[in-house]
Amino acid sequence: MTEEIQQYEPVIGLEIHARLKSKTKMFCACSNDTWKAEPNEHTCPVCMGFPGSLPTINKQAVYLGRKMGIALGCEVKKFSKFDRKSYFYPDLPAGFQTSQFDEPVCEHGKVQVVVEGEAKTFRINRLHLENDAGKSTHSENASLLDWNRSGSPLAEMVTEADFRSPKDVSSFLKEIQRILRFFDISDADMEKGMMRCDVNVSIRPVGQEKFGTKVEMKNMNSFRNIEKALEFEITRQTALCNAGKKDEIVQETRGFNADTGKTFSQRTKEEAMDYRYFPEPDLPPLTITDEEIEEIRKEITELPSQKILRYLDAGIGIAEADALVGDKHLNEVLEYVTEKTGDLKRTSNWILGAVSKYLNDNIEYSLADFNADNLVILIQLIQNNKISNKVANQIFEEVISENKNPELIIEEKGLAQESDTGAIEALCAEVLAEKADLVEAYKSGKDKLFGAFVGQVMKKSKGKANPQMVNEVLKKLLQQ
Ligand code: ADP
Ligand code: ZN
Ligand code: MG
Repeated sequence: MTEEIQQYEPVIGLEIHARLKSKTKMFCACSNDTWKAEPNEHTCPVCMGFPGSLPTINKQAVYLGRKMGIALGCEVKKFSKFDRKSYFYPDLPAGFQTSQFDEPVCEHGKVQVVVEGEAKTFRINRLHLENDAGKSTHSENASLLDWNRSGSPLAEMVTEADFRSPKDVSSFLKEIQRILRFFDISDADMEKGMMRCDVNVSIRPVGQEKFGTKVEMKNMNSFRNIEKALEFEITRQTALCNAGKKDEIVQETRGFNADTGKTFSQRTKEEAMDYRYFPEPDLPPLTITDEEIEEIRKEITELPSQKILRYLDAGIGIAEADALVGDKHLNEVLEYVTEKTGDLKRTSNWILGAVSKYLNDNIEYSLADFNADNLVILIQLIQNNKISNKVANQIFEEVISENKNPELIIEEKGLAQESDTGAIEALCAEVLAEKADLVEAYKSGKDKLFGAFVGQVMKKSKGKANPQMVNEVLKKLLQQ
């Protein structure tokens, strides 16, 4: 009898915080754009938690939170309210966070994600609004507190535990980041803490419905670290189960050390923290009408994952499709140019090729300054056989760096492709007359010489003859 080896599968759920891109903070008029500010430059009694100060709700932040919910396929709740979540922490000046407990702004969403070419759907449990805490920096003999971030608007989304692999998770997070950026909801920079992710993971025997004991890894700040931490955790938990030490997996918070690639225990959750939630007495509830919800819905156009699937359908590879939605502005150029050239494949080759290369080589260049109409013209010149791909690539740098109309460049440099049948026929005839001996050899079976004839004609035309026409004309003449 062979012993059956138990197979385990990971079960993963995420809690993601996104800093909403509103002009001011969640409950006061301080600027929310504090990235380059001096410490404590953007503060007031409200965001510093002074007793007696009164908050007011930031309309734009609420709008952005609902927009995010709609983009994630959630229902927007007609009635929603804020609650106080009490806990003590030095960078939480009020002694409580203003969050949402039982009536979040949005709930029950689903997000389609393309994982390695395959469309999958993951469910969102809820999305609520809250304010951020300040930031403490600990040095050798002091702890410094900066309240610039205190009161910044956050949307927190909680997923169902629907993910079954680290790849599921990283593909999902990338899609969330793209959604936040494409619809101007959040800058979603993980390095700047504008998008932060808590990762919950457990394992269970394949076929078992009940979840195992989960561990939580908080505030992960890069896709790569999340994948690595998950891989480590899944291996660790599986090994414990296989060794009959299932009980050693305890509900706890674990940190990830990027240098060793290992997770380590930070603190065990002996019992659930009592946040003593109660309705925020200083803020009115939030309500919204069906018409208002529809107005926001109109702004959520094609989602990044839908774009990816459309690109795959057009015969574009997975890695390329992924790259084409990697940057909002680059994608806008792609869509704009494609609409005018009618050729997604060719346009995407330009975007991922020459355009991306130029942007990588010239980091100070801003795509916002690029006149995409010039790329339209360039591609149309190729489509109409006015220039070859080779010439187009030669002049591209001038087109993008000087925002110059390619038509002008080819005129100035005399680079227009010769597509006049008469002229090409004359060139071909000339070459064949000059190489009469080779023509003889070709006709007696040396097919390979054909390339040499093409080369000669191209050379004679200084590279300007339309190669396809040269081929056709030469074939015709050689058959005579
Ligand atoms: P907690 O009360 O510990 O915060 P929640 O029920 O609020 O737990 O869930 C937090 C996140 O953890 C959610 O994304 C959820 O899907 C996920 N989660 C819950 N239980 C498990 C489990 N056993 N394994 C993996 N993820 C889980
Ligand atoms: Zn303030
Ligand atoms: Mg929770």
